[in-house]
Amino acid sequence: MGHVDHGKTSLLDSLRNSDIVSGEFGGITQHIGAFVVPVSKTLSVTFIDTPGHLAFAEMRARGAQVTDIVVLVVAADDGVMPQTLECIEHANRAKVPIIVAINKIDKADANIKRTEQMLAEYGVQLESIGGDVIGVPISALKSINIDKLLEAILTVAELQDLKGDPGGPVEGTILESRNDTTGEQDDVNENIDNKGNVATVLVQRGSLKKGTILVAGKSVVRVRALYNEKGNQVEKASLSIPVVVSGWKTLPCAGDEAFEVESENFANRLVAVKKNEELAKKMEQDSV
Ligand code: GDP
Repeated sequence: MGHVDHGKTSLLDSLRNSDIVSGEFGGITQHIGAFVVPVSKTLSVTFIDTPGHLAFAEMRARGAQVTDIVVLVVAADDGVMPQTLECIEHANRAKVPIIVAINKIDKADANIKRTEQMLAEYGVQLESIGGDVIGVPISALKSINIDKLLEAILTVAELQDLKGDPGGPVEGTILESRNDTTGEQDDVNENIDNKGNVATVLVQRGSLKKGTILVAGKSVVRVRALYNEKGNQVEKASLSIPVVVSGWKTLPCAGDEAFEVESENFANRLVAVKKNEELAKKMEQDSV
């Protein structure tokens, strides 16, 4: 998160290109709201770039928590700005730890000291001035210290003891949804009709596969196909992996929690009950 123009997009671009472990170059990155950066053979970090302030606040209000760590981007020439403060507030209220990426250190008018002092004034005490928040001076544009930022993320993840359950029924959160008119591939890689309704699901428990039945809000899917951020079909998506899922009858909403059920029949009944409840509530409100 960060104030507009402080370099969030540039940092995400830089991180995407820092995919040094897998060494996969080429392949057009699709906007699916999230992507994974492998940092070693066994570890990877998932970056979520959707939540604008509103989406983040809405997700929180609905109890969905998709973010374990907030990377706060603050440009060292500008320092703390109004939206920087909003981000700090959001992270604090959601009780999510912050790592500060002090960006644009390549600029002649960058002032790291002043930025640190401003952050301290607003309650973010960096380690460099005796606090406990990690701050990493970076240049998103010149890809300086991106590796240090990843290290900092892993350090905080370890401190927070971030763990999930890779088994059991699938649980996740919808990050984005849309109607996709590009072709879908079948098993022999031939294009069939358009993908239709797709949604990016961040898997937070279990392993999502073709055929899994999910309920998200008032939408149901029997997973037809799964795609990674490069647009390639994948067999499954495990814990903390964001994946585009096709096969939705209707579009779920960002922030909807998705969970696996045994049968489509049961899924449809659940949705019907939800719709009835909402209708009853609305009629009650209308009659007041
Ligand atoms: P966002 O609005 O936070 O997503 O910011 P952008 O990533 O779009 O960056 C805003 C402007 O700042 C663009 O012109 C970038 O090229 C520039 N910028 C971003 N990071 C750096 C950096 O590390 N150094 C310099 N000199 N410019 C940067």
